[in-house]
Amino acid sequence: MQEKPTIDLSQMPKAELHLHLEGMPRWETLRQAHRRHYGTELPAVPYWYAADFRFANFGEFASLFREYVHPWLQAPSGYAEVIRDCFDSLIEQNIRYAEINFTPLLVEKFGFSLPNILDLLAAEIDRAKDRNCTIRMFAGLLRDRGSEEAIAWVKKLRSSPIISGFDFQGNEVGWPVDRFLTAIDLAKEAGKRVKAHAGEMTGPENIKIAVERARIDRIGHGTSAIQDPEVVELLRDRHVTVEMCPTSNERLKYVKSYREHPIFDLDAAGIAVTVNSDDPTFFGLNLTDELSRLMAQRQAKISDLKRWTRNAFCHAILDEKTRRRYLSELEAWQPTADVLDG
Ligand SMILES: [Zn+2]
Repeated sequence: MQEKPTIDLSQMPKAELHLHLEGMPRWETLRQAHRRHYGTELPAVPYWYAADFRFANFGEFASLFREYVHPWLQAPSGYAEVIRDCFDSLIEQNIRYAEINFTPLLVEKFGFSLPNILDLLAAEIDRAKDRNCTIRMFAGLLRDRGSEEAIAWVKKLRSSPIISGFDFQGNEVGWPVDRFLTAIDLAKEAGKRVKAHAGEMTGPENIKIAVERARIDRIGHGTSAIQDPEVVELLRDRHVTVEMCPTSNERLKYVKSYREHPIFDLDAAGIAVTVNSDDPTFFGLNLTDELSRLMAQRQAKISDLKRWTRNAFCHAILDEKTRRRYLSELEAWQPTADVLDG
């Protein structure tokens, strides 16, 4: 099939709801950090950036975090450097709104003070705000650490104004999110948002549990929803936002191929889908690249990209004045290249 010409999306006002701090620094910045802190020389282009590269399994993917990002985070100025690079990458892409998940467990495991890291985040959030980028932080809770630990994290972080909410992540298999109802209720009572990765590595039943039993209205991935028309209806009727990550799903083999990713089908079914890059360090694409790839390889139109971005702004944690400003900026934007758009 013929690919569409590349269109410059760099100036498009964007929004991204599904990003992990530990998986989003830019490779070149990471490479310089390893050289500076450890004297090690990493390749200019990692082998997993090859277009045909696929992870053997989730374990192989997770091992890259331990090998490349964790050593950087453990350097004395590591968190400050990682946060600065991640936020800069958003600002440079003209991302107006982003929700970033980070793992508080790692902060403590690496011997840092969580309040200090939250202060660091607060300062960088202010800096981004001055550059027209609103950032909301979510604490990522690892499911297989169990319910008691999730409750403890919510209690520890619920009073922090830097934490907008909690995101259940990690191993879905055997860990449906209704095992965390107490933690979820505590978070909601404190006025925090709750999200869950669901239906990425498991079937649609896990999405159903998250929406029906845990009353979660923000699903990460949700790719397997397409296997069950009832779950598709449920997502549509409950106005659940689905944070889709096409290249992530392709590289981890949670979809058969990029061409078969269900984003268009779920969109056509009336679900509020959004486009996200998940872990650009390890999937090789940032949000701008992912949107371009959807145009080139799935024939997405500018009107599709705008609708998916509008979905993200509409469900973002924003005051109404800022939301309207971002939405009108998006509507006003047009690509400069000659594009025949439907
Ligand atoms: Zn994720």
